[in-house]
Amino acid sequence: MPKQRTYIIGHKKPDTDTISSAIGYAKYKNKTQNEKYVPARAGELNPETQYVLKKFNVQKPNLLKSLKDKKVILVDHNEFSQSVDGIEQAKLEGVLDHHRISKPESQKPIYFHTEPVGSTSTMVAEKLLRYGELEKSLAGILLSAILSDTVVHRSPTNTKKDEEIANKLAEMLDINIEEYGREMLEKKSKIGEKTPREIVLGDFKEYEMANRSVSIGQVETVSPQQVLEKKEKILDEMNDIIKERKYDLLLLLVTDLLEEDSEAFVVGETKRFEEAFGERVEQDSAFLEGVLSRKKQVVPKIRKQFN
Ligand code: MG
Ligand code: MG
Ligand code: MG
Repeated sequence: MPKQRTYIIGHKKPDTDTISSAIGYAKYKNKTQNEKYVPARAGELNPETQYVLKKFNVQKPNLLKSLKDKKVILVDHNEFSQSVDGIEQAKLEGVLDHHRISKPESQKPIYFHTEPVGSTSTMVAEKLLRYGELEKSLAGILLSAILSDTVVHRSPTNTKKDEEIANKLAEMLDINIEEYGREMLEKKSKIGEKTPREIVLGDFKEYEMANRSVSIGQVETVSPQQVLEKKEKILDEMNDIIKERKYDLLLLLVTDLLEEDSEAFVVGETKRFEEAFGERVEQDSAFLEGVLSRKKQVVPKIRKQFN
């Protein structure tokens, strides 16, 4: 009987790190293990990721709609609420991630590797570089993911290791990190014809916090004005979404990548947000100075309020 393949997959609302780390880690596992590993994705690709895959001529992974009964390795997340449906009935074989550990459960001992670095792709590239083989196309998408997740090394999540690995990859590819980084940030910023709902749900994460449900969307942009001017319509949409999905608190962070600040739109239990940040919410929003990272500067403060 042929062996069952193992899917390597990142979080819903995939970003460049989730996609690149799945592709890169599958490559690494196929080189080093006598099993079959297949990269997969949990949803449609955002414009930045489409741009990156096209630029380096890499095929997008296949879409998986359910993980039920499948062998699975999770990358770039470990919180089941961010996984594709059916994760509770999947055979969890491993985790490779750079987020806080939530409560994933496995039936057997598994390989569980997390590091407090700026991107999962840093960890994947390190493994591939140590193994001694890294195709240029793969180096390109991994470098892009590192620059995307760390906002070209500006985010507080960035570490020395991210820079060292990114420098090695950039050298292999003869790419200037600042120049290419700016090009990518502009792709990330393409709001264009997006509807208010697409703006809120484009880069969106759901969190369980002591049986309460909190969700946080983020728009990272070099031109926040194009989002802020749609504030009223976006808030209408957020009020619909919170009712539909029964969240206790819903945020949208509009992050200015150049000024390195965020404006937060807040719907639901506003008081929790105010206590978390010591900021008043006025007309359903608040300014968060120096806030770039949802993971490191927002989620922990909110979680504290609910726990
Ligand atoms: Mg991610
Ligand atoms: Mg990541
Ligand atoms: Mg991100």
